[in-house]
Amino acid sequence: LEKVAAIQFDRVIDIAKRRGIIFQSSEIYGGISGFFDFGPIGCLMKRKIVDSWREFFLTPEDRIYEMETCTIMPEQVLRASGHLKDFIDPATQCKGCNSIFRADNLIEESTGQFVEGMDPVELTRIISEKGVKCPKCGGELGPTRIFNLMLATNVGPVEGSIAYLRPETAQGIFVNFKNICGSTRAKLPFGVAQVGTSYRNEISPRQWLIRLREFRQMEIEMFINPKAEEPPQLRQFSHVKLPILTREAQAGGGQPIELSVEESLKVLPNKFLAYFMAKELLWYQQLGIPKGAIRFRHMNPNETPHYSKGNFDMEIRFDFGWKEIVGNAYRTDFDLKTHMANSGKDLTCLEGEEKVLPHVVEPSFGIDRTFYALLLYSYRDDGRGWEWFAFPPRIAPYLCAVFPLVSKDGLPERAEGIYKGLRSDFDATFDSSGSIGRRYARSDEIGIPYCITCDYQTLEDSTVTIRNRDDSSQVRTSVGDLPEVLGGLMRGDISFSAAGKPMK
Ligand code: AMP
Repeated sequence: LEKVAAIQFDRVIDIAKRRGIIFQSSEIYGGISGFFDFGPIGCLMKRKIVDSWREFFLTPEDRIYEMETCTIMPEQVLRASGHLKDFIDPATQCKGCNSIFRADNLIEESTGQFVEGMDPVELTRIISEKGVKCPKCGGELGPTRIFNLMLATNVGPVEGSIAYLRPETAQGIFVNFKNICGSTRAKLPFGVAQVGTSYRNEISPRQWLIRLREFRQMEIEMFINPKAEEPPQLRQFSHVKLPILTREAQAGGGQPIELSVEESLKVLPNKFLAYFMAKELLWYQQLGIPKGAIRFRHMNPNETPHYSKGNFDMEIRFDFGWKEIVGNAYRTDFDLKTHMANSGKDLTCLEGEEKVLPHVVEPSFGIDRTFYALLLYSYRDDGRGWEWFAFPPRIAPYLCAVFPLVSKDGLPERAEGIYKGLRSDFDATFDSSGSIGRRYARSDEIGIPYCITCDYQTLEDSTVTIRNRDDSSQVRTSVGDLPEVLGGLMRGDISFSAAGKPMK
């Protein structure tokens, strides 16, 4: 952990750009802050992260359906959901250089005082009392004002009707609730998930992928009967210990306490939250985030979102400090109730004879922040300029790269044949340009776990070398065994030394 705080994050950003993981959006025109694009390598990885998430969270036992709804929504929806009125942040403008900042963040950074959720008059007072100045030019800051975070657009020609780019994927699910119930005939509890883009006009986008204006989310809305006891699958996770940072600990600068799932039920507002939190902890550890870098923070009342009866957000420790990665909210019947009242449509469902308005438990994952954490905790260097990402094999852009040792004597053709044979079962790539050392370095840089090299011996006995990214050790194995060996390595069924005959 201490090492992570000390790493040169500039190095990670440099590789990410150079190797096609993340680009500044519209860069050739200077770009706008808070917008990033996924390059060819980043795109492959993002897809794998999402697939791994689907496999882990959207299980048939949990009856979680996935849908995809529009990203532009009419004003009525976001008025009803409370976003028009309550989805706001405080901003202050420098009187000298006109830069705009989030007032609460500025105060927190310069005084250490935690002020999220305070009203603008209070914030203005604190800025003047504590002498908080513009971090850019040292100038005096103006009064704090409230800004809505939604991006608006016009739908239709000439003067169309105002609509908004969705600030969360969830609303598309809530407004479809009747359709979902009717078409799936699902009984409570069941969930609806959505992976997609959300938009927030953040006042000061920063910290690379942390605070963006366009970002990607993976959300689950779990619909439950408010009288429901607990998720049927909860007991499978009773062994998990959750690191929880209570409100008391936050007030006193204390540490998280480890609570078993059973114990956590006493402090969580809903038992379904415990279920998702346990799974989140396990999934992020599978991605390579150490347990000590994960905690669940009970949000204070003034920072809890307007729709939530209690948030226990999963935070990860970054190079710059702790940051929320997954928002875990108990949304109660807030959303369905307001959409029912505003649309006039009945959004209850039948449970036996009884009409029930379901409650909602929501884990909301940020893909971009997850990506940042993954890069940060996977970054390695040997202190002599050799850098690599130790991505888990299932998340790496490719499982293996196939190389000819040299570009002559039929080796490229042989290597290409092997590559084509593997391609239907594995994510493989082929590279024959430059020296073999350069190719190893390039594949390590994007975290490819295994390099398969075809050499002169391959032509004689159909064996190849496999090189392990993490310690550059090599084994020799027969081409015919490659599918089984690679499958075993990917699943973690075999260790690298069992992948073939060790080489010096
Ligand atoms: P929230 O609805 O604010 O709890 O957000 C849910 C999740 O979306 C957060 O935990 C983040 O991972 C992600 N997220 C929210 N806002 C942003 C943003 N401006 N940029 C990137 N990710 C975000």
